[in-house]
Amino acid sequence: MDNDLIFDAVVIGAGAGGCCAAARLAHSGMRTLLVDDHAQVGGRAATEVIDGHRVNVGAIALELGGVFEETFTRVGAALPIRCPNPANAFYLNGKVVDVGRGGWGLLLGGLTKHAARILDQFAQARSGTLPDGGLSTKDWLSGYTRNETVHAIFRNLCAAIFACNADELPARAFLTYFTAKGAFKRFGFHPEGTGAAWQALADVVRSNGEVWLDTRAEQIEVEAGEVAGVVLRREGDVVRIPCTTVISNAGPKATVALAGAAHFPTAYVDQVQTRLKPAANIVFNFASREPILDAPGIVTFGKTRRLCNMANLTATCPELAPAGWHQYVAYAVPVPALGDFDEEAEIALARQDLREQFPNFDERTKMLSVRVMRGDWPAQRSCAGYDLPMETGIAGLWCVGDAVKQYGNGGTQACAETAKLVVDSVLAARASATVVAAQ
Ligand SMILES: Cc1cc2nc3c(=O)[nH]c(=O)nc-3n(C[C@H](O)[C@H](O)[C@H](O)COP(=O)(O)OP(=O)(O)OC[C@H]3O[C@@H](n4cnc5c(N)ncnc54)[C@H](O)[C@@H]3O)c2cc1C
Repeated sequence: MDNDLIFDAVVIGAGAGGCCAAARLAHSGMRTLLVDDHAQVGGRAATEVIDGHRVNVGAIALELGGVFEETFTRVGAALPIRCPNPANAFYLNGKVVDVGRGGWGLLLGGLTKHAARILDQFAQARSGTLPDGGLSTKDWLSGYTRNETVHAIFRNLCAAIFACNADELPARAFLTYFTAKGAFKRFGFHPEGTGAAWQALADVVRSNGEVWLDTRAEQIEVEAGEVAGVVLRREGDVVRIPCTTVISNAGPKATVALAGAAHFPTAYVDQVQTRLKPAANIVFNFASREPILDAPGIVTFGKTRRLCNMANLTATCPELAPAGWHQYVAYAVPVPALGDFDEEAEIALARQDLREQFPNFDERTKMLSVRVMRGDWPAQRSCAGYDLPMETGIAGLWCVGDAVKQYGNGGTQACAETAKLVVDSVLAARASATVVAAQ
């Protein structure tokens, strides 16, 4: 066999989880092949150019201080992101409300006399006492306040971070995220678009392996319960890569289809069929000649129909837009976000919100794209609280990405974490196999 086609590991999919996994593998000395069926890396966090504007398909806010940032440091990839200050604010009744260091206390204290009861729940969560996983965030909150603005803010936080409604997200996941995870307190925007972050990781892979774009994995081969190779379609040709370590970033459903359900434990296939809950959102990328938002980071809205949050991208990264333009992205989450919904009606409700929040919105802005993320190309491949394990039940075959997150985590940070956990396991297994072989 052509020596160029011998790899220690194959990673299917160059999304956030796949790029982090492939870069870690290559950096740790494993010759790695990373393949993706698109022409660019990044998957749902790639960047495209529309009318001269760099527009992110998915992720914009890249969190600092966790596994995501550590991945770049470890493999020596550049991450030149810029942090807005303040990073987060609320947009209530047409005004930017920066709660700064006051956090939850300051926000809730100004809205409800029951703030102390809610804050006590956060304190309890911090010390490990969490509600049952079956209780929704909305029902949990209703136990402490009926204040409509507080409910609207919590709904929009669920929507902004988890791409679902408060009655769809377990309170346990919400509280875990805000008390034990990064909670997007520190993040930055990439001046070349989020896609450039993944390109930096792909370059690390190229230093000890290859990155094949426009290449589709058509089959994962399994022999006697162990992964044996991957069949790829590349430039019209079928290429077989024998390999005993395969990491799939295609999502558990597609991974089962690639290997064939009969090879997996029945319990795993059942979970893939019943547990995953893809979450949807609607993304409005737009630009204006004059600034329309006086906050440099991300604002979360109060009472809206569907709109949940919005980022002011060019305040910190003017390079994203052609000279003279301000660029924004606003997100809405449909009702329901985890089930079927009428796309046109949901877009219309979100547009109404934009017009209400920003007078003369249509006249003042140029719409670059309106995109609905759902189904097989969702906002989250499974809503927080409904994730699958990274292990597939087939030796040597793992999943990474946002359907196999750690409990209560979200976004690219969560994907990077899955990559670290899987690669650590792969390296540990190789190390113990080497010890056994040497004995
Ligand atoms: C609108 C929106 C806004 C978001 N905002 C943020 C944010 O601000 N911050 C944040 O951290 N997160 C955010 N997220 C979430 C984040 O973008 C996703 O969680 C993350 O990008 C998912 O990455 P993944 O590892 O699951 O891979 P994916 O993005 O799903 O990529 C998988 C790749 O594998 C490819 N693939 C699949 N099957 C095959 C095959 N058979 N052969 C070859 N290739 C294959 C796919 O085409 C794809 O390119 C946002 C998401 C959306 C949609």
